[in-house]
Amino acid sequence: MAQQGTLYIISSPSGAGKSSLLNALLTKHNGAGKMQLSVSHTTRATRPGEEHGVHYHFVQVEKFKELIERGDFLEWAEVFGNYYGTSRAAIEACLAQGIDVFLDIDWQGARQIRELMPTKSIFILPPSREELERRLIGRGQDSAEVIKGRMEKAIAEMVHYDEYDYVIINEDFEQALFQLRAIIECQRLELRQQQQAQQNLLKQLLAE
Ligand code: 5GP
Repeated sequence: MAQQGTLYIISSPSGAGKSSLLNALLTKHNGAGKMQLSVSHTTRATRPGEEHGVHYHFVQVEKFKELIERGDFLEWAEVFGNYYGTSRAAIEACLAQGIDVFLDIDWQGARQIRELMPTKSIFILPPSREELERRLIGRGQDSAEVIKGRMEKAIAEMVHYDEYDYVIINEDFEQALFQLRAIIECQRLELRQQQQAQQNLLKQLLAE
């Protein structure tokens, strides 16, 4: 049997640096092309710089509901007023080819996927409340009310950190990236993974 890829779930509040970490992981440390980020569907509006099919598949609510009906999603959730969903086919195809797949999804999606298949889940936290607030203030163009709303959303996500297998505190970016890579490296060295990856070597070493 070919080696199965691992399904990683990565969640965090906005402002914890999850997207930058995933971006660095997949662009700088994906030498063998064995890692892929899953592109979700969403009904939210496109933000400046986002591309259809790259950051998300942007769809209308009717289309999203049609995809739910067809059973195309492994999981879907309403996150702060918009629908988000992970499509099944692409993920299963990647895993079967031995590619590790990364899902950038919220705690609700994480709960659903854990019920369906084996996963390794990672929660990324900011180093302090003050730093999170500083990151959420961004360019300083938003009202106090808007920032308060973002903090409330961040806390609503963070309270679920203890449902995850691993927790990374993103204080120093390079350190957090190193820790993320360490989790992936450990997973690849697990007995069952190595038994599949090193089949030929093991056969040769253990021959009488
Ligand atoms: P944003 O709109 O800022 O890109 O994402 C908002 C939240 O939705 C983030 O916490 C993100 O992880 C989550 N999210 C993105 N895609 C999916 C998905 O396919 N399923 C679920 N459950 N959450 C998602």
